[in-house]
Amino acid sequence: MHNLLALNWKMNKTPTEARAWAQELGEKLEGGAAELAVLAPAVALSALAANLPAGVAFGGQDVSAHESGAYTGEVSAAMLKDLGATYVIVGHSERREYHGETDAVVAAKAKQAQANGLIPIVCVGEGLAVREQGEQVAYTLAQLNGSLAGVGPEVVIAYEPVWAIGTGKTATAEDAEELAAAIREALLTRYGSDADDLRVLYGGSVKPDNIASICAKPNVNGALVGGASLKVPDVLGMSDAL
Ligand code: PEP
Repeated sequence: MHNLLALNWKMNKTPTEARAWAQELGEKLEGGAAELAVLAPAVALSALAANLPAGVAFGGQDVSAHESGAYTGEVSAAMLKDLGATYVIVGHSERREYHGETDAVVAAKAKQAQANGLIPIVCVGEGLAVREQGEQVAYTLAQLNGSLAGVGPEVVIAYEPVWAIGTGKTATAEDAEELAAAIREALLTRYGSDADDLRVLYGGSVKPDNIASICAKPNVNGALVGGASLKVPDVLGMSDAL
């Protein structure tokens, strides 16, 4: 199974900047063992689709839980699919925190994505208080189970401890492996042999100089990267390290 390097631009880059980034990537990317996927703001996806080098996937950072209709401001899974998207992030901690997304909403979004042929990247992970109480496994698995209710096995899971996102505090490779192994076991229980090929990513202040040790762990199959996804040289550094 190839590692997946999923690049979450968050609310950064205009379509013009996205085009320049994609063209720079095309000039410098020499291929590698990792699969690359760019998760960009919805308005930048057309520019990306037209300029990304062959073999680099793209997708959205969120999707509506509804198929279509009177949901002003939302982007549907069918719209993302029509642009050629492969993936969509659902349940990022910033969506859970700032937009009140519950596990049930995240599961509804993941189902909607799958119904339209997209692969949801379902994010889970504990905050600092939970970590300090040593409850990270129970908390994260409860969140995982809620977020996968009714969701089929065509998923990617991203374990992202909230205290490590955008803070410069990276979980140790052992911390990442502890949760990735627990998540994999839960996926095997849920999906049986369909879970054998599922990828579990780590996310939280991943950079070129720490990605290799984290992704060397047996249950970690790549990374979801925010800050270090914005500059092409950093992306190449991470891709080369995998
Ligand atoms: C993220 O956005 O999912 C993330 C992990 O961000 P950062 O790499 O900046 O911590």
